[in-house]
Amino acid sequence: MGMKVVFVGPPGAGKGSQAEHIVKKYNLLHLSTGDMLRAARDAKTPVGLKAEEYMSAGKLVPDDVIIAIIKERIAQPDSDRGFLFDGFPRTVVQAEELDKALAAQGTKLDVVLELQVPEEILFTRLASRGRADDKPEVIRQRLVSYHEQTAPLVDYYGKAGNLVSIDGTGTIDEVFVRVEKVLDALNEG
Ligand code: AMP
Repeated sequence: MGMKVVFVGPPGAGKGSQAEHIVKKYNLLHLSTGDMLRAARDAKTPVGLKAEEYMSAGKLVPDDVIIAIIKERIAQPDSDRGFLFDGFPRTVVQAEELDKALAAQGTKLDVVLELQVPEEILFTRLASRGRADDKPEVIRQRLVSYHEQTAPLVDYYGKAGNLVSIDGTGTIDEVFVRVEKVLDALNEG
């Protein structure tokens, strides 16, 4: 079975760019709840239409919606290959439900990577990206949601003992070298 990795960090920390490099090198599935929700929104499914109300306001989509999507996804046989969660979990409730779902499959997370980037850099990065939810007032709300609802995960995983914090400043390649050090050590261990 492949590695099971969670990526936490504020919006704009570079999780998506790092995730692309990681899944390639370590042959993992890239499970981005943001990508799944955008696909559902574009396909105008009931879940997608409901999610859009929250996404366009920079608010988190309710836990029950996200948990249902993720449970369905990790029940697929290809998840044996190992996966990288990008943008999930975003609340302690989501993290607890993930732990339970993995335990029911007789498995658990190998590592939680926290990407650390100072706030002023985040805002500049997000504002230059040009996604529909990258308007200044929506960015501000997404950072608020992160601090209020997602930052407590760092404590949750810190207590669980599988958290590794990584400096997310610098170029994508510079950050990836730091990420590789952690994942290579796990792979060898
Ligand atoms: P992202 O692409 O990860 O920045 O996600 C874009 C938006 O999708 C977020 O601002 C939320 O509205 C929603 N979203 C993505 N993942 C989650 C999640 N795990 N829990 C709640 N909302 C989410």
